[in-house]
Amino acid sequence: MVSARPAVAAMPAYRPGRNPADLAREIGVERAVKLASNEVAFPPLPAVLQAIATTAAETNRYPDNGATVLTAALAERYGVQPAQVAVGCGAVTVCQQLAQAYNDPGTSIAFAWRSFEMYPLLAQVAGARTQQVPLVPGSPGAAPDTHDLPALAAAIDGTTRLVFVCNPNNPTGTAVRRAELERFLDEVPAATLVVLDEAYREFVTDPDVPDGVELMRGRPNVAVLRTFSKAWGLAGLRVGYLLAEDPAVADAVRRTHVPFSVSTLAQAAAVAALASEDEVRARCAAVVAERARLTAELRRRGLAVADSQANFVWLPLGERTTDVAAALEARAVITRPFAGEGLRVTVGTPEEDDVFLGALDEVLTSEPAGAAGT
Ligand SMILES: *Cc1c(COP(=O)(O)O)cnc(C)c1O
Repeated sequence: MVSARPAVAAMPAYRPGRNPADLAREIGVERAVKLASNEVAFPPLPAVLQAIATTAAETNRYPDNGATVLTAALAERYGVQPAQVAVGCGAVTVCQQLAQAYNDPGTSIAFAWRSFEMYPLLAQVAGARTQQVPLVPGSPGAAPDTHDLPALAAAIDGTTRLVFVCNPNNPTGTAVRRAELERFLDEVPAATLVVLDEAYREFVTDPDVPDGVELMRGRPNVAVLRTFSKAWGLAGLRVGYLLAEDPAVADAVRRTHVPFSVSTLAQAAAVAALASEDEVRARCAAVVAERARLTAELRRRGLAVADSQANFVWLPLGERTTDVAAALEARAVITRPFAGEGLRVTVGTPEEDDVFLGALDEVLTSEPAGAAGT
């Protein structure tokens, strides 16, 4: 019998997210609402659909392995050289490439916890150790939901090759501010690469939350990760990218690229999306307005919801989390529970969010006495 590497055998089995159509059929309703994966609710941009239709005729050919047109468009958009850009099959794959490029067995990857679920998994595949630094309450009496950058800096040692700072943080939505992040970057040793995972950057409204692309200037051990999956509406096409101050970092990521893994359709769609930035901005503004409404509605219900800078909100429900998520699902609303900690709810359309709030009201009022409050 063949055996997978112990690190791989020990990985949790993939659990597919609930599909809204299946759920709707199962519980006999017309439509289920999916607020579980932080996609935007808008359909693909018109220019994206057009680009996909046009490019479909070329799919008998391999994609451009260097993603030349997209790389040039990104370089221009961010005011960097093409050599500072590495495009990948989703930002998740770029994360994996970073671990492959920088982590020999026995080295480590540091990050806050709870944060993006992929970080520990990709470390495990790379054979790297993890240094997980607990989140701390962002305001007095709050649940732990915010990066502790001094503790993260203190956790870094001679084995730490990579540090992920997810800003805003998935799943809590909180963001670190400029002064504390600059102080942190000043402290990190030059031989450790700091990756600012800014998958939700486009939803940031607080001017004090720094733009990683500005922060990385003059700091060769800092890189920024962005994605077309969230604000730009291309989750199904898989395009993410890294911007690095030091071209050697982008080069290392490119060297670990799975050949042709960013498809022709994905590249064309991403270029078209970048050219539609005004429309994307308008959509993000709508998401941000709805985020404010949803947050206010949840707080009106006595829930301790932190300010989110992303396109989701975090309900720190603690031990009640799994039960509440299951009860919501029975009412045709799919959210993302983190057992024992909290529920992440994507900001949907106002109609979807009203369905969620209605379901939540039913769930919270039907909870056993004494279970209310957080
Ligand atoms: C969604 C997400 C990504 C990007 O995922 P891809 O779809 O692979 O581009 C990266 N980081 C975080 C924190 C995310 O939430």
